[in-house]
Amino acid sequence: MTIEKLLELINDYNPEEVDIIKKAYDYAERLHTGQFRQSGEPYIIHPLNVAYILAELHADRDTVCAGLLHDVIEDTEATKEDIAELFGKNVANLVDGVTKLAKMNFSSKEEENAANTGKIITGIIEDIRIIIIKLADRLHNMRTLEYKSPFKQKENALETLEIFVPIAYYIGAYRIKSELEDLSLRYLKPEIYQQIKEKRDKIEKNNKDSLNEMKNIIQAKLKEYGIDHSEIKVRTKNIYGIYKKLNEGNRLSDIHDLLSLKICVEKRSDCYQALGVVHELYKPINNRFKDYISEPKTNKYSSIHTTVFGYDGRLVQVQIRTFEMDKVASFGLTTHWDINKGEARNTMKQDLKSKYQFYRSLAEIIAMYSDNGKLVSQVKKELFSDNVYINYSNGDTTQIQMLKGSKIIDLAYQISPDIGNTLVGAYVNGEYAPVDYTLQNKDRIKIITDELSYGPREDWLDIAKTSYAKKKIREFNGK
Ligand code: MN
Repeated sequence: MTIEKLLELINDYNPEEVDIIKKAYDYAERLHTGQFRQSGEPYIIHPLNVAYILAELHADRDTVCAGLLHDVIEDTEATKEDIAELFGKNVANLVDGVTKLAKMNFSSKEEENAANTGKIITGIIEDIRIIIIKLADRLHNMRTLEYKSPFKQKENALETLEIFVPIAYYIGAYRIKSELEDLSLRYLKPEIYQQIKEKRDKIEKNNKDSLNEMKNIIQAKLKEYGIDHSEIKVRTKNIYGIYKKLNEGNRLSDIHDLLSLKICVEKRSDCYQALGVVHELYKPINNRFKDYISEPKTNKYSSIHTTVFGYDGRLVQVQIRTFEMDKVASFGLTTHWDINKGEARNTMKQDLKSKYQFYRSLAEIIAMYSDNGKLVSQVKKELFSDNVYINYSNGDTTQIQMLKGSKIIDLAYQISPDIGNTLVGAYVNGEYAPVDYTLQNKDRIKIITDELSYGPREDWLDIAKTSYAKKKIREFNGK
């Protein structure tokens, strides 16, 4: 990694910011002179890599500068004021924010752990860019984890899996997410990691030609239908993803998205036409179709997924989306804002609150728990664990993501406090179900309310699973 390489990348998407980023590099380099990484390399290699990861996400100027400077307050004599003077208030706040998320190579003390994690979680609300820098920091540290002791390796890997992977998912940074997963597995279960990796590499090699042929056939057909500008990429599932599937009892050959083709086209309508083309050429398996374009995931991921029988009857997943949707899927949240100018932080905050259920829930939980240990365990329980998807209907049908284990009560409050407060029961897949029914994936649900109901009973507090429902029940009961 060199500064030239970074500047080249910046020049590709943000040419007018090259000078300021060079200035930040020179400043950081001078300050870190004489410091070294455990690998023996000069320290500046680390912030440089962090900045590069951020630039790959097409992060704004302030974020990339802060990436270069992220360790100078902690490790050199530079102060927040120095940074503000040289690079502006925004960069200074970002570096300060990252510094305050205390160093994560943590002691074995449970309490300190919870405090650190608590800070990371609250930091997401402060300015999401702080967390994005922290993610890039963690990614580079995970890439260079071989220089740490085996104990630290396992500790860092586990924490990465529990905290940073879900954050990467929620901000939609899929590339970072899958790399972090694989790196974690490599240190947590080295033998299994190697085994899967070898098999995966072999499959990749054996199928490369056939997949490329499929790609050419599809591309030719798309042209016939007038879709001239398309790009198709071949991809293999990440090692951690395969590991999870095997763990659930699947055989390698049953994993429907082990091999996939990603088709990018110009327009939304082209996506559906491309889907027609794919199904015309290859027979789809019917229960594997997902339209995340009409129903984007809560992290804004949009794409059509279908699985078809490709050459030799092999399962191949095909993902279809526009170039724009693909940008969001690769870079995540950072693509949403034109954030080079001053008001970025507030714009982001508002945008996040209105569009991201994850962000709203996070704000709720933070407001409710002042104790770090409880905060962390609640966030893990509520946001970083498995979800179910249900279809809620009140005339129209909407898909809603709920925490696994949620009850009808949680769903009702999620939809609106009024519905929660007048809830009496529900129809689940056409049958009556009580308020404490546990939501299952793909349930079709209609809520039954009654204006004359007594309102939420106090024992609902023990039944409800989400902080939001509990809060509203308490409010109703005047507590
Ligand atoms: Mn660092």
